Amino acid sequence: MSTDQSPKILDTGANGGEELIRFENVTKRFGKATVLDGLDFQVGRGKHVTLIGPSGSGKTTILRLLMTLLKPDEGRIKVNGDYLTHEERGGKLVPAREKHVREVRKNIGMVFQQFNLFPNMKVLRNITEAPVTVLGMSKDEAEQRGKELLDLVGLGDRCDAYPTQLSGGQQQRVAIARALAMRPQVLLLDEVTSALDPELVAGVLDVLRDVAHSTDITMLCVTHEMNFARDISDQVLMFDEGKVIESGPPEKMFSDPDLDRTREFLSAIL
Ligand code: ADP
Repeated sequence: MSTDQSPKILDTGANGGEELIRFENVTKRFGKATVLDGLDFQVGRGKHVTLIGPSGSGKTTILRLLMTLLKPDEGRIKVNGDYLTHEERGGKLVPAREKHVREVRKNIGMVFQQFNLFPNMKVLRNITEAPVTVLGMSKDEAEQRGKELLDLVGLGDRCDAYPTQLSGGQQQRVAIARALAMRPQVLLLDEVTSALDPELVAGVLDVLRDVAHSTDITMLCVTHEMNFARDISDQVLMFDEGKVIESGPPEKMFSDPDLDRTREFLSAIL
């Protein structure tokens, strides 16, 4: 399969680097509503890309497509060299079977708005469960790594707590550790602080800044926290009505965007 880049693919900062994610002409509809409209973009390995834009512009849909919680109606999505949506059979690209999807999907971790921890499992077990059952990691190794990750998110002393015994901010930090435990190449962050009390937001963003600055993980982030976006992003994509209408490095996008639409959006939320 050729990996030639068609000129219309929006380069989100992979110049000179290796492409990790690629959307090719992706369309997603819900009923009669076209939520993503022939979307093309790519993200380079190790890059941090923030998606901004008004509510309903399709940002979360992009993350959900990558998590295979949704399927595109048209187009293809590639992750780490393999199509998520298609597989090669008999020299042809055909819709991917479940087994193929599961393999490609192992590259991707996601943190949701609503933490989604397993309520009946202690914190450490929340983190070790998937590495053991999905990756086949030994329990000892998973626990050792789980403890390291809990240290990283500042919760090394809460291994034996249940999620409900933690604050929302602490639960979200566990969810970040849980996603990292799968050693994903890509981390998707969907408005991860929007369900938190304001005083808990900074702790979660600090952890994510650490992850962004101290790992080589590729991040795709939907957020309204523009200072955070400015700190961690290599590239910011502005969405409107299912399309990327403008993109650029954060210094440019937040200070001097080209489009009035971007300027209006930013002035409404900043
Ligand atoms: P954003 O993240 O930019 O706010 P979304 O990707 O969540 O936007 O949603 C884009 C549009 O798709 C919205 O109009 C939303 O109502 C609609 N939508 C999202 N998910 C579904 C669904 N499962 N069924 C029907 N409509 C949906």
